[in-house]
Amino acid sequence: MRRILVAGNWKMNTTAASGVELARGVAAGAPAAETGVDVLVAPPFPYLVPVKQAIEGSVVQLAAQNAWFEESGAFTGEVSVDMLLDVGCDAVILGHSERRHVLGETDEDINRKVKASLAKGLKVILCVGELLDDREAGRTETILDEQMAGDLDGIDAEALGNVVIAYEPVWAIGTGKTATPDQAESAHAHLRKWLADRYNTESADAMQILYGGSVKPANAKELIGQANVDGALVGGASLSAENFLGIVTAATEVAAG
Ligand code: PEP
Repeated sequence: MRRILVAGNWKMNTTAASGVELARGVAAGAPAAETGVDVLVAPPFPYLVPVKQAIEGSVVQLAAQNAWFEESGAFTGEVSVDMLLDVGCDAVILGHSERRHVLGETDEDINRKVKASLAKGLKVILCVGELLDDREAGRTETILDEQMAGDLDGIDAEALGNVVIAYEPVWAIGTGKTATPDQAESAHAHLRKWLADRYNTESADAMQILYGGSVKPANAKELIGQANVDGALVGGASLSAENFLGIVTAATEVAAG
């Protein structure tokens, strides 16, 4: 049985004070590990340290929203994997669509970051997903295949064990338009088949594949309840402890069967 992961991507939001308050609220309501549901928050870089302190002693995990692939040196404005580990990060989100489509990251850039993170033992939450034009042109699976092949190039089955995939259709991110449970399930099943073909059935079966795109307490149970959906990557709704924990509660209901 795969565990469920509910991850909150705070993007470029909160202040130090509001981020700590949000993290404390999430930590106070996070379910015990025995429920089979894990909870993670990804604050902006400057708030990783105070948020880490706020969740200390709780089950809540910490992730960064990006990393640079070089170890150290003259890379003004960038943050290395070692730095993220140094401040207590458990994971890093890579390949988010805002980084791909707003900030111009390529699959080659993402692949370097994936390799650098896995080499240091930092868990990777790798985001993939198609644009609306791609979906309307019937190219969803082609785009997913291209992103998976590019981003995971050179990653062996052992290293893959420290990767979580997040399927995030770009047209559903921050738009209020959620993929239907059928659309999500179909993309997730395709991704799992891709993993089975490229790696092996064991790796594919073990992979957590999260859905992301306007997940809210009201739609979380049906989405996470799909056979190949193993949790959610949550943007907007992760900025309220009440809404985020509503999604976590939906996940615990799914886990309890
Ligand atoms: C995201 O940014 O990863 C995301 C899924 O955002 P939202 O939940 O706001 O659509």
